[in-house]
Amino acid sequence: MPAPLRLRPEIAALPPYRQGRPAPADGFKLSSNENPFEPLPSVVDALTSATDVNRYPDATALALRERLAAKFGVTADEVLVGSGSVSLLQQFVLAAAGHGDEVVYSWRSFEAYPGLVVVAGATSVPVPNRADGGHDLAAIEAAISERTRIVIVCSPNNPTGVPVKAAEFAAFMDRVPSDLIVLLDEAYAEFVTDAGAVDGSTLLGRWPNLVVLRTFSKAYGLAGLRVGYAIGSTRALDAARSTAIPLSVTAQASAAAIASLEPAAEAELLARVSALAERRDRLRTALRAQGWDVPVAQGNFVWVPAVDRVEELAGILFDAGLVTRAFPGDGLRISIGEEESVDRLIEALGKLVDA
Ligand code: PMP
Repeated sequence: MPAPLRLRPEIAALPPYRQGRPAPADGFKLSSNENPFEPLPSVVDALTSATDVNRYPDATALALRERLAAKFGVTADEVLVGSGSVSLLQQFVLAAAGHGDEVVYSWRSFEAYPGLVVVAGATSVPVPNRADGGHDLAAIEAAISERTRIVIVCSPNNPTGVPVKAAEFAAFMDRVPSDLIVLLDEAYAEFVTDAGAVDGSTLLGRWPNLVVLRTFSKAYGLAGLRVGYAIGSTRALDAARSTAIPLSVTAQASAAAIASLEPAAEAELLARVSALAERRDRLRTALRAQGWDVPVAQGNFVWVPAVDRVEELAGILFDAGLVTRAFPGDGLRISIGEEESVDRLIEALGKLVDA
């Protein structure tokens, strides 16, 4: 046995990232909240036209930032792009939290949060979700201490699907210390149909410590290209600029993202988002009618609380060609994919309720 490497013990103990299993033949991969639609031809054209691969990309992806700034009515300095929004999350955590510092977030939520905090050498303060799967903002506020460096609010929450209410979030922002960065992780914002849910794009400029995180991975279907963005005050974004790995957004990714924001392309992409939201609502309604206690679902996924049956259900669904994400002891997260997958889910889960 070779001697163990001289690693930070907390890093050596971190579990590796769990990627969903590939879909079996004639099956559906519904485990990573991906967009099932193929990329638009105009987006593929833009991607393949960016052939200057012997050159480094523009370090700050200015063209993409300008395009996003125009869309959201802010300046390009108030937009930061990164290699997926998970990379931006890490940049903020690294910038603000080190040894002895705390990062507060609702739990269960996006699986990456605890790992990012460990990598920073900081301490997670997970605050239990409410029984309905939503954030308990009063409890999150109560968990903030002198040592808190970042608060992450995820709306709609992955994996439960429940959004934070706009009024509750505004009241929360008014109460939290104004020098504490609040990351509003809105990876699934475009799928939200509840008018009462928070929409970070309407809050820009209101609190200098608020940073809204969004991504091209979900609604825009570019998960494989890795482009996310943060919108916030220049001062808040500066922190994350300092901890970025330089040049991590490729010219190809920028070109595809810009092409996705062209009016005709974006309209088509958002029509697909509406179709996915309808499938989501159809699936949730059907599962609730079968007796599954599926909470409010506002992302591109539904959450099936199943406690001690999670792995059994995931296994049976897998055998039916449906790859889902199991959270043992808690629930099953099912992404909204092809129309046919929704029919197959309704049929398969219908046989399993109380079985
Ligand atoms: N935030 C949440 C809540 C997510 O679910 C995800 C992806 N699963 C991300 C951020 C990261 O997305 P990406 O890095 O692809 O932008």
